[in-house]
This record gives sequence, structure tokens and C-alpha cells, in this order.
Amino acid sequence: MADSGSDKALSVIVVGAGVVGVATAYALARRGARVTLIDREQQPGRGTSFANGAQLSYLYTDALANPGILKRVPGLLLGLEPAFRLKPSLDPAYLWWLLQFLRNATPGRFRANTLAGLQLGLESRSAMAALLAAHSLDFGHSASGKLHLHDSSVGLAEAAKLVELKRRHGGQQEILGTAELLTLEPALRSRAVVPVGAVYTPQDAVGDPFRFCVGLLDVLVRSFGVAARLGTIVTGMELRKGQAVVRLNEGETLTADELVICAGAESGRWLATYGLGSSLQPMKGYSFTAPLGVDCPVSSITDVARKLVFCQLQGRVRVAGLAELGTADRTVAAKRFDYLLATARDILPLAADYAAAGEPWTGLRPMTPSSLPIVRRVRPGLSVNIGHGMLGWTFAMGSAERLANAMLGVAGQQRGP
Ligand SMILES: Cc1cc2nc3c(=O)[nH]c(=O)nc-3n(C[C@H](O)[C@H](O)[C@H](O)COP(=O)(O)OP(=O)(O)OC[C@H]3O[C@@H](n4cnc5c(N)ncnc54)[C@H](O)[C@@H]3O)c2cc1C
Repeated sequence: MADSGSDKALSVIVVGAGVVGVATAYALARRGARVTLIDREQQPGRGTSFANGAQLSYLYTDALANPGILKRVPGLLLGLEPAFRLKPSLDPAYLWWLLQFLRNATPGRFRANTLAGLQLGLESRSAMAALLAAHSLDFGHSASGKLHLHDSSVGLAEAAKLVELKRRHGGQQEILGTAELLTLEPALRSRAVVPVGAVYTPQDAVGDPFRFCVGLLDVLVRSFGVAARLGTIVTGMELRKGQAVVRLNEGETLTADELVICAGAESGRWLATYGLGSSLQPMKGYSFTAPLGVDCPVSSITDVARKLVFCQLQGRVRVAGLAELGTADRTVAAKRFDYLLATARDILPLAADYAAAGEPWTGLRPMTPSSLPIVRRVRPGLSVNIGHGMLGWTFAMGSAERLANAMLGVAGQQRGP
């Protein structure tokens, strides 16, 4: 039982052991908090974090709500864009969310949200570097660099403006023309259509989020005394007489000084109770992992037009994409998966042995209208670290540090690096 008792250390219950929950437990534990981490699955990282695109895209923080999206909304509702769909629904919470999303699509808000994401991305990159300097974690982490491929010169020119904006705020990216691109990444010669250019981000990285969760939880248990309660469902949460009270499916009750919700796309069910309203909508995506092909790029690749990501991950290829906003059903739709597979073949035919692709996987990105996570202490005893959307793996370390600073202060009772 996580109980503050006579021990002076602050006791904290963290609900959810995805990349965000595990990183949050680390940020709190190394400041001296006594942490209990709960997840319904038997292993950490089995939710949306499990088989995502694996990209640590610290500089590609462009908000989803952008000025160009307004005129695409009717087509998105009708399912005319295979890569991105909006579920047609009259659910008031969903409509409210869409309205907030469209309010974020102005040029000013897009710019502000993208730069706020960049700041969090840069903090996350530093926090990840500090973690890896302090602990030996094996999750295929590699700063392989990232290429955003553009097939149109208009699109590349627009991207160049954002590169310049981010440069003024600490982001280092380069624009490459076709010749430079093919010199850097000869494997792209196998594409049917050679891109007109790319945005190159040399310091972006990749890593397996599931193995990260397993490895970091092991460090937390062994070196920081974190109590891991896996295979345990939280059925209720409340604040009672200055204490956080969490009810479990086993009939047990845990108490602690503080509670942090990191339950990913499922956090929504707890939010209304605490006045956070309909801030989250799920956005379903797909991935698969396949053996390496005969000519696979070393850098991780995003095809901008078709919104697919590819990367090498521990000797295999991970491909991820598709976005279905408002869909919480995680079943694999065969047609959607076939589209992902066929598009991947089309974009990079020799990158993977597609015929030997593993099981399709789906996950639910926990989206906010601004594409920025909600990282805050809602009231004494309750904090949230939720809504990381398309970039939860990228933002996990930085948002964990922000939340721990909000709860315990920057200095806190630092333990370990
Ligand atoms: C196809 C796809 C590709 C993506 N690619 C990338 C990428 O390349 N880079 C990137 O940065 N991000 C990517 N993302 C986004 C990223 O995966 C998510 O933002 C991130 O995983 C969210 O992490 P989380 O810890 O908040 O949620 P989760 O990983 O879902 O963790 C929440 C945990 O809470 C637990 N939980 C929930 N309710 C309860 C309860 N009542 N009791 C007990 N436990 C509970 C769940 O079991 C789960 O383990 C991608 C997402 C998808 C779907």
C-alpha cells in the first residue's frame, strides 16, 4: 500500500505505465518521491506506446490543426483522404473538441502551438540524454537523423519557412535538394518518384518505446524502490481529506499524498469529474514491423504527402501511419491495413520484406485540440500528464520533468542524476 505513514517522503500513485507514466515515475522517484505505478496490463508499455512509429521527432512538432486543414474538413468527414479521417458523429463532446480544434487552425495558433511543442521537444531531448548518461537502457536508441520527404516544390517551400522559424527558436534542420538527399540516403533511389527535396533533422532519433518502458521500470524498481502494480485495474479515484484515494478491481484501496493520471487515451473518463471537460479524443493509427529489405534507408523517413513513417529498429523496419479521429475501436480493419502495406511498398519498395510483415497493430493517440499535452497540477493531490497525441514518445521525458517540477520543484529532493 502506498501510504505516506511516518515516512517523510511524498507518496505518489501514478496511474498508467505507458511511456508517459514510466517517465513520470522516474522524474518523481529521482526527486525522492515514494512512487507506486499501476497498470492494468501485465507489462508496462502495452497501450498506445507499444508499437508506435518509434520516432523521437524532437523538432517535428508541427501541430495537426493548421490553416490548410479548414478547407479539407468536408473531405475528411466523407473519408476522401485515406491517410486522415474524421469520424462523422453528433456526439456533443466530439463536436466540442472539433470546434476547439478548428479554433487552433489559425496561422497564429498553429505557429504558437508548433513552437510550444518545439520547446517541449528540446527539453525532452535533453532529459532523454541525461537519462541515458545515468542508466544503461537497451531499447535500440539511435540518433539516426530524420528526413521529411516532399514530392512538391510548393510543399518544400512552405516547409522551409517553418525550418527558418524553428531555427530562430533553437531547432537545427536543413533543407536538402534531390541531389544532396540521394547522396545522404542512396536507398531513396529505389523510389518510383524521386522526391524534390527533404527537411533533414540530424539529431532526431528512434527507439523502441515498449523496450524503453520495460527497461526503465526495471531501473525504477531496482534502484529507486518504485512499487509496480501490474495487472491491476483502477476502478475509481477521489481526493478525500487531503489524501488521494485509488480503488482497484481487486477491492483494494490505495492512499497516497498525490495522484498522477497518465492513462493515455483512456484518461478522458476521469477528466469531467475534475473539471477538465472533453479535452481528449482518440485518434486511431496502425503499424507493422517487418524484416529489413535489401535497400533500407538508415535515416528515419516520413513521407509528408502520405503521412507514413519508416525507421530501422533493432535490425527490423517499423512502419506506422493512418489517422482516424474520434475512433476508439482498436480492431484491425483489413482494408485499412492493406492500404498501409500497399502505400509503404509504393513509397519505399526495397526498405522491408513486406511479404514477411508481422501482425498489424493499432493504437489510440490521445489528442488535444492544440496537439499539446496537458501537463499540470490540477489541485493539491491531483495532477495530469495526458494528451500527448502524435508525439507521446517524443514528449514523454520532457513532460515528465515539467510535471515533477510542478509537483516537487526543480531542485526537489534530488536523488540520482
Ligand atoms: C500508429 C501510431 C504511431 C505513433 N508514432 C509515434 C512516433 O513515432 N513518435 C511519437 O512520439 N509518438 C508516436 N505515437 C504517439 C504515442 O504512441 C502516444 O502519444 C503515446 O504512446 C501515449 O503514451 P501514454 O503513456 O500517454 O499512453 P499509453 O501508452 O496508452 O499508456 C496508458 C496506460 O494506462 C493504462 N491504463 C489506462 N486506464 C487504466 C486503468 N483504469 N487502470 C490501470 N491502467 C490503466 C493502460 O493500460 C496503458 O498502459 C504514435 C501513435 C500511434 C497510434
